[in-house]
Amino acid sequence: MEYTEYKDMVLTCQDCGARFLFSAGEQRFYAKKGFKHIPKRCPACRARRRWERLNRHWHTVICEACGTETKVPFLPKGIRPVYCYECFRRLQGKAT
Ligand SMILES: [Zn+2]
Ligand SMILES: [Zn+2]
Repeated sequence: MEYTEYKDMVLTCQDCGARFLFSAGEQRFYAKKGFKHIPKRCPACRARRRWERLNRHWHTVICEACGTETKVPFLPKGIRPVYCYECFRRLQGKAT
């Protein structure tokens, strides 16, 4: 039976150079997920990269109903009006 004892590690972020904690709990979580690597970036940089990846294909549009700037995950072609999430929900609610 193999048993690994995890200990908190202090790592250095390769993006911003900040030192961050890779806790024993996180290491266990990583191991359970089958990740063999240790994180190269601090949680802030990881979150920023995730957000950038998520928003890469998002387009800024103006909501047809309220004029608020909003982001949609597709390129509007001008065929259908584009609404922000709030208006979309509101209009959907009216329709039913
Ligand atoms: Zn960082
Ligand atoms: Zn709106």
